[in-house]
Amino acid sequence: MTTVDFNFADVCCGAHGLSILLTGIKDDKEHKVLFDTGPHSAIFLENAKRLEIEFEKIEVIVLSHWHIDHSGGMLAAVERCQHAREQQKQQQQSTSPVVVDLHPDRPDERGVCLTRPSPPGSTVSEPIEYVAWGKDPSFSALESAGGKVSKNAKAHTICDSFFGVSGTIPRKTTYETGIPNHVRWSESTKTWSAEQEIMDERYLVARVRSKGLVVLTGCSHAGVINVCQDVKRAFGGGNKKDEDIFFVVGGFHLAGGSMETRIQETVKDMKEINPTYMAPGHCSGWRAKSALENAMTGQVVSLGVGSDFFITHQQN
Ligand SMILES: [Zn+2]
Ligand SMILES: [Zn+2]
Repeated sequence: MTTVDFNFADVCCGAHGLSILLTGIKDDKEHKVLFDTGPHSAIFLENAKRLEIEFEKIEVIVLSHWHIDHSGGMLAAVERCQHAREQQKQQQQSTSPVVVDLHPDRPDERGVCLTRPSPPGSTVSEPIEYVAWGKDPSFSALESAGGKVSKNAKAHTICDSFFGVSGTIPRKTTYETGIPNHVRWSESTKTWSAEQEIMDERYLVARVRSKGLVVLTGCSHAGVINVCQDVKRAFGGGNKKDEDIFFVVGGFHLAGGSMETRIQETVKDMKEINPTYMAPGHCSGWRAKSALENAMTGQVVSLGVGSDFFITHQQN
């Protein structure tokens, strides 16, 4: 019997945010896409080092939406992709810059408006203060870091059609009405304005043969049911049998008092959609996770920093 060391200094570190590396393999072809980059560069780089990420192989970085907990590590990610490519060039290998796939509607800044009941105990609330979340990386900063910015508001495919990126997610359900208290800063008017719906949010999708659609959702500001319904419509190819969702992973945004009222209806509709598996994380909230697990036992899997999922085609 041999003994191996396990160094707890090498485990990943958690933070409020999301970043998922997606690898697609078909025959002898492989494509890698990075979906979001977490809240800041230090945590992104530390975790990337521990996970031994091959930055030279990342072809596209897709940002789900302009919120700093998803874009905060993006400049560092682009820099690392560029650095890895420069090393490749020294070995005479041809490289092309990493593509940074972004929604064109970049806000000057986003944040939340904190409120309190007024008078105390009532359901009417008055604003107390704005909390600014910091500026997302700019298009020019991402270009300067070596990225090739690609602005897309409409649904499109990337990496030789291995993956799809959605356009605007239609808001169809009656109860998924955005997030109260979200606000957007305007540099020109120096004012905050209410922005309940984060309309620039997009999801990433892939199809795994014999399994179904695999959906990566950033925060589900559109509502995770709206996300799933749009995936089926936009990427189901018009065939009922191709609309099956195998896996939904990411933020379901059902945490917090104002969002938890939607859990019951979400669970009811999720049962209809019936994905084979779900991995709610990030902003999903423990009540939503346990409600989904109770209603769809065995279909909810745990998601944490450093999680790995392998989804493979099954030969008959
Ligand atoms: Zn988020
Ligand atoms: Zn968000």
